Order: sequence, then C-alpha cells, then structure tokens
Amino acid sequence: SKDDTDTPDESPVKKYIGRSGVVVEHYNSRPEVGVIQRLDSPIIGLKNFNNWVKSVLISKFAHPALAASSVRTQKNKGKVLDLGCGKGGDITKWSKAKISDYVGADIAAISVEQAQERWETNRNASRFQASFATYDFCTQNLEDVFDPDILAKPFDVVSSQFCIHYAFEKEETVRRMFRNVSRWLRPGGTFIGTIPNAEQLLERLRELPPESQDLSFGNAVYKVRFESREHSGFFGHKYWFFLQDAVQDVPEFLVHWDNFVSVAAEYDLQLLYKEEFHDVFSEHRDHPEFGPLMVRMRVMDVNGESSMDEDQWEAANIYIAFAFTKR
Ligand code: SAM
Repeated sequence: SKDDTDTPDESPVKKYIGRSGVVVEHYNSRPEVGVIQRLDSPIIGLKNFNNWVKSVLISKFAHPALAASSVRTQKNKGKVLDLGCGKGGDITKWSKAKISDYVGADIAAISVEQAQERWETNRNASRFQASFATYDFCTQNLEDVFDPDILAKPFDVVSSQFCIHYAFEKEETVRRMFRNVSRWLRPGGTFIGTIPNAEQLLERLRELPPESQDLSFGNAVYKVRFESREHSGFFGHKYWFFLQDAVQDVPEFLVHWDNFVSVAAEYDLQLLYKEEFHDVFSEHRDHPEFGPLMVRMRVMDVNGESSMDEDQWEAANIYIAFAFTKR
C-alpha cells in the first residue's frame, strides 16, 4: 500500500470530481485482488475479524428478519439492500443467509462492476437474484436509479457496512441517507451496519498534548488525523483516515451516536443493538456458533491464538456494530 503522506489534494482528478470525489476515486482505484491474494494482506487478521463481526451481525439480526419475510418453505427467501456494497465482499455471507434477492448499490462505479462480476461468478452457489447500480445514498433517492419492479417488494434487511459515516458531512446528506434506508424497508425489517466510534476517536483527540499542532494518532496499521480539535454541531467534523492495505487517507466524518439514534427515530428506526468491536468479540468468543466460526474465518487458530497483532487489535476497535428495527 501507499504511505499515508499521500494527501488527497495532489491529484487533479480528485480536484475535478468534487464532493465525494476523493472517496469515489479511492475506492474505485483499489484493486480487486481475489480471495487467494487477499491472504497475503499484512492486515489479513483484521480483515478476517471485520468479516467475522459482519457475519455475527447478519446471523443475529438479519436472519430473523429474513426468516419472518415469508412462510416457511425450502426456497431461498428475503430481500436485502447492500448500501455501499463496495466490491461485493458480503455476497458470500448473503448467499449463506439463503436470501432470494439482493440489491447492491455503491457510489464507486468500478467497485459496483466488480461486485456484479463476483455475483455472476458465484451465481450457482448464491442462488439469489441480484441487481446492481452506481448510486450515491447522500444525494439520490433509490427510486432514481432502480426500476420500480426492483423496488416493488420492500426490503427485509438494509445493510450498510463501513460506509454510513461518509454521509455525516451535512445534516442534509444524513437525512437523505436515512430516508433511503427507511423508505424501502418493511416494518419489522432490520437495518444493520458498522461505523467508526466517534466517542473513542474524540477521546484520543483530547489526549493529544494541548500545544500539539499535529492532530493525528494511530499506529502502524491505522492513522487518524483531525483538522480541528473543536467542532460545533453534530455534522461535518472531519478527519482523514488511513488503514494499511485498505483505506488511503480518505476524508471521513464523526458520527455522534446519540444524534445518530435520535435522527434514526425520526425515520421510524428503533435501536436494537450497539457494541464496540472488542465487545462483539468478548460477547461471542464462547458462543456455540460464532466461536467456531471465528476459527473457520481464521480470526483465531484452534489453540485460541489470534491472527491479529496488537496494532491490528487496536485498529479493530475503532468501529462499532449496530442494528435497528423499523417500526
Ligand atoms: N460495504 C463494503 C464492505 O463492507 O466490504 C465496502 C466498504 S468500503 C470501506 C466503503 C464503501 O462505501 C466504498 O465502496 C464507497 O464507495 C462507499 N460509499 C461511500 N460513500 C458513499 C455514498 N455516498 N453512496 C454510496 N456508497 C458510498
């Protein structure tokens, strides 16, 4: 991966493409390396752990919503919207959840193509219908890009993994995001996701020496750099984020949790679950299903030895997992 001194303002392309452009260009330019090469990643332990957390979220909160979506049959069931689907990294997880329909949407067109290819390659195994589109959940309505027949039946689950925080630049974009999540989700359906933990990032920011001009912290695996110590209001508190072999200095915005929950409530979304990643781990390590899954997903070996070093483990806890239900 490139080093974190590469500032996003250097590229004329990035300047030209404007709002969200840095994010789009970043995700589009990340190579699709495939499962085999991914094993070589220096942060493979952390990537496996993040995938395990997403699998836990899906099993705990999406499976019940999917199961309730239709009468019991042997057929696949349930419809999922993957908002910010990226390269389709969760397609196998959804195939294991035996869904019938998947809609993948992401602002980065090349990622969307790669997600579609992934689905086509695994089509026989996946056995679900899928539609994909390039789509910005901050500025567009879902019905602007997807045909009415694709949206005719509401979603049982909306999943948005590691991307909702990009909406927190402005209240307007947050409201559009929630509107899109809630509008096509059936009552009783589930909204699951993962976002950075603002409280923890702010705590680290406050710990920096008061005289320090450099508002950054992190370790060999991740780096966070704030532009300002103080910020008024809930939206637009920006920081730059770098994660080794994954995210190269991309602008992100703090998601203040209480505000997130109260705006969600305005869109009929009621909180079911919120946990820091470290606590997701300790809560489920001895679980009869998720414990062994951790070994199968190579988060741990059979002797309980973690595949993450200290730095990866610290980086893992930047995030929180959540689940809401629609009233
Ligand atoms: N959800 C995928 C996963 O867990 O593997 C991808 C996560 S990646 C860290 C963040 C994704 O959010 C990128 O694919 C990026 O293009 C997408 N994204 C960021 N802002 C977006 C927006 N406004 N609308 C749609 N997608 C967005």
